[in-house]
Amino acid sequence: MATIPKNHPRYMSLLTREKISQAMKNGIVHETGLIAHGRGEAFDYLLGEKTISPVELAEKTAAAALLYAKNPVLSVNGNVVALSAAEYISLADCIPAKIEVNLFHRTRERIDKISDELRRCGAKKVYGMKADAQIPGLDHDRALCDKDGIFSADAVLVPLEDGDRCLALKNMGKTVIAIDLNPLSRTAKTASITIVDNVTRAIPNIEQWVHKLKDASIDEIKDIVETWDNEKTLGEILFFLSKRLNSLF
Ligand code: ATP
Repeated sequence: MATIPKNHPRYMSLLTREKISQAMKNGIVHETGLIAHGRGEAFDYLLGEKTISPVELAEKTAAAALLYAKNPVLSVNGNVVALSAAEYISLADCIPAKIEVNLFHRTRERIDKISDELRRCGAKKVYGMKADAQIPGLDHDRALCDKDGIFSADAVLVPLEDGDRCLALKNMGKTVIAIDLNPLSRTAKTASITIVDNVTRAIPNIEQWVHKLKDASIDEIKDIVETWDNEKTLGEILFFLSKRLNSLF
């Protein structure tokens, strides 16, 4: 990796770019993953690169939904592995939830590389290799999934998802929790619970909530999930963004 001076004002951002770029060279991130990262970075810049308060509630609700689910699955792609593999595995362990590799640009080689990297970082079992089921309504390799993974899940966490697959998962009756820095994306608008935060902050935040909610009653957990209003929260995020931009003039 290139050496980035620690006192550089954009140190974290440059380090993150370096991780994504390295993961592309290693065949984990698809080249279009760099473009997706750039879009995410731009929105993160506008948000002030921090978790804003409506999003904290989204992360709490996501933790509750994952605890409430009977078969929760955390979907993973190349960018997530490049940025947050260890944190993702830790979150899956504490819920507990399955991890499934699910790619837009799916090749056997990338699936193997991503699952090897997850195992190297401590994952005991990784789903997504069998691809013995298909998400109905999608006509592309991105529909492929495991019957005992995403296909039969009742709640799925989908970081950096595309809108079509998010909708197709919703249409299967699943609770879809998206992590997407763009509050205007189709994914953000379609998901059951949208977390407008960087995956690097969102994953540890959700894990903290999972620990806090572990001793809560099932009624309390259910109430958190059932009183969630995704549209209202997206509105609050857009309001925050417009206010912040106005205040910068
Ligand atoms: P949609 O189909 O939902 O409209 P899209 O085509 O706009 O999605 P994709 O390229 O499918 O976008 O997905 C990338 C999404 O992931 C972008 O919306 C981007 O903001 C978001 N993103 C990129 N990097 C991160 C990150 N580190 N954390 C959270 N979100 C991210």
